[in-house]
Amino acid sequence: MKPLIHSLSRLELETECQALGLPSYRAGQIWAWLYARRVADWAEMKNLPAALRAGLASKFDLAGVAPLKTEGDPVGTRKILAGLRDGECVEEVLIPARDRKTVCVSSQVGCRFACVFCASGKGGYVRNLETGEIIGQLLLAWREYGDRPSNIVFMGMGEPFDNYDAVLKAVRIINDAEGLNIGARHITISTSGVVPGIARLADEGIQVELSVSLHAPDNPLRSKLMPVNRKYPLEALMAACTRYAAATRRIITFEYTLIRGVNDTRQHAAALASLLRSIPGRVNLIPLSPVDGFEGQAPDPGTAPLFIEVLGRAGINATTRISKGTNIDAACGQLRLRSRKTL
Ligand code: SAH
Repeated sequence: MKPLIHSLSRLELETECQALGLPSYRAGQIWAWLYARRVADWAEMKNLPAALRAGLASKFDLAGVAPLKTEGDPVGTRKILAGLRDGECVEEVLIPARDRKTVCVSSQVGCRFACVFCASGKGGYVRNLETGEIIGQLLLAWREYGDRPSNIVFMGMGEPFDNYDAVLKAVRIINDAEGLNIGARHITISTSGVVPGIARLADEGIQVELSVSLHAPDNPLRSKLMPVNRKYPLEALMAACTRYAAATRRIITFEYTLIRGVNDTRQHAAALASLLRSIPGRVNLIPLSPVDGFEGQAPDPGTAPLFIEVLGRAGINATTRISKGTNIDAACGQLRLRSRKTL
């Protein structure tokens, strides 16, 4: 298989052009076709000599993902099944709101983290996505919206920090003023708590938003729900978050999925408040979405307000996330590994 041209950083494309003996402005022209014009065919790169277009086409693939299926409300939350060149596929979700056009992208085919409440880990892990496949999901979303997406969240299938290099390279292309030109503060990376990833991101000098999936305020419960906690327990996670907040001066969002009778009592709320007391953060409460293979239930309607009150008294801002797309299995935790054979 040829490499994807959308997997190249701007610098790598420049080096590639140099190696082909091209004048330096060619890299800029190609970059503009890829990201300002987002062409789907080499033939559309009109200001490039035909021989150069043919040369590029023989060396690189232009499309790493193809839309296989779109579900949902044509003007509301939609899920796109994106087919990859090797026959695998990933799901991405478009979540339009009054003032936003959010895209939730996947970073891996499957997931190795096996959080008990999440569908993405149920089918195991297949492989990392390449940068060009992450970019490809955004190009599909751009076409589907008919407009530039306003917000990108790495909250689809997979653990972004388990595929750190490809994700960060994609982030830089997404953020590049001559790339997809989406502001860093409109890009969110969500992690299940991979401490080395948080530490690396702190030093990147890029102002992206960090979300940490917490879901429990103590080690025994968190280890039961999220096996990653056995490797990176709360002490290590909170230390990384404290350092991240100090280094970036950014506020961290802590995701807390409420599961009835499991992590949603007043005691859990109080323990959560004390865990987060000294970290510049906010809490995003998510009522559990139903998932095959997990028995847990969504919380009572009074639970989120109780958490908001307890956290609020400790000076911690909390809001409830209304999970969208449950009807098409596109809500938080519902994206799962699918094969083309079962379509
Ligand atoms: N692996 C990364 C990116 C996935 S983001 C991470 O864990 O952060 C998906 C978010 O949905 C995470 O916060 C995840 O914990 C949450 N989630 C998973 N299953 C869920 C479910 N059944 N109901 C509600 N939220 C869920």
